[in-house]
Amino acid sequence: MSDDAAGGPDPVAESFADARAAGIHPIAVPTPFLVGRVNCYLIEDDPLTLVDTGPNSGKSLDDLEQSLRELGHRIEDLGLIVISHQHMDHLGLLEIIARRSRAEVAALDVLAPYLEDFSASATADDEFSMGVMRRHGVPSELATALGAVGAAFRAFGSSGRVSTPLREGEELTLRDRTLAVLHRPGHSPSDTVFWDERRRILIAGDHLLARISSNPLISRPLGQPAGSGADPGERPHALVQYIASLRLTREMPAQLVLGGHGPPVRDHAALIDERFRMTQRRAGKVRRLLEAGPQTAYDLASQMWGNVAVTQAFLTISEVLGHLDLLIADGRVTEDAGAEITRFAAT
Ligand SMILES: [Zn+2]
Repeated sequence: MSDDAAGGPDPVAESFADARAAGIHPIAVPTPFLVGRVNCYLIEDDPLTLVDTGPNSGKSLDDLEQSLRELGHRIEDLGLIVISHQHMDHLGLLEIIARRSRAEVAALDVLAPYLEDFSASATADDEFSMGVMRRHGVPSELATALGAVGAAFRAFGSSGRVSTPLREGEELTLRDRTLAVLHRPGHSPSDTVFWDERRRILIAGDHLLARISSNPLISRPLGQPAGSGADPGERPHALVQYIASLRLTREMPAQLVLGGHGPPVRDHAALIDERFRMTQRRAGKVRRLLEAGPQTAYDLASQMWGNVAVTQAFLTISEVLGHLDLLIADGRVTEDAGAEITRFAAT
């Protein structure tokens, strides 16, 4: 994180000053994804700890090594690698870094089997997403094409052996700090946040981001063998789950929330309230669109996002289904899942 082209201080880098003072150094590693750089965090403690790794690419590895060098460390010095969740921009260098450092690898217990064979897990995820897309009205050829795009990106991920499986509520103890391990599913089923109660710092992965509202992606439930092909008709209620997770986080007396992308969050309760208001507005919009008659999630996504509903079909379908789940829970929408393609109607 160097000064910007104009020579002035980088405001994002500056915004991490108090994290650095607490021995937590953000390392913004480049990714090939739309989201841009991913924040990994080096915790200068014993063991020397890296939270998240960045994706599996030569450029990411070079950048990470360079940043570690600037901080006076090498990959070989790492004693612990912690993974915040199952997305490849956060864990793709795991295999390489774990091999070179021989560090312990800590992740939520339910994530361990997923990471044993990342490629098989990601393949099963892509099949599940294609099933969800077809069921919700995405043309079959488009679903297939998008599945192929997913497969093309798989090499940015990584398998890994979790040596320290973490249970929700347990503590990760380093020499100078204790991090409570909290499972906060929603953005992904394995979202895990790490809470330093003494310093009131939350390391949050993609659970809460300052500048992006985290996508409540509909994901294949964890704990199912990769070959079992979870039923895409019985979709996980990712947004409902995410809201429940955010409610828990909102009540925490955090002063600093360190996210997986962008600057830190200082007033997390206000930001979470803003996210809740956006959800309410979007649910209202979905409900109004349904007044024209029963529609699929893809119909709704196309009206809300135009061409983005094509190029980002799974993401936009996930958004729409999340809001439909909320409306169904409120009795304002009904779901007809009897046919091959599910339609929703206003009550
Ligand atoms: Zn993520």
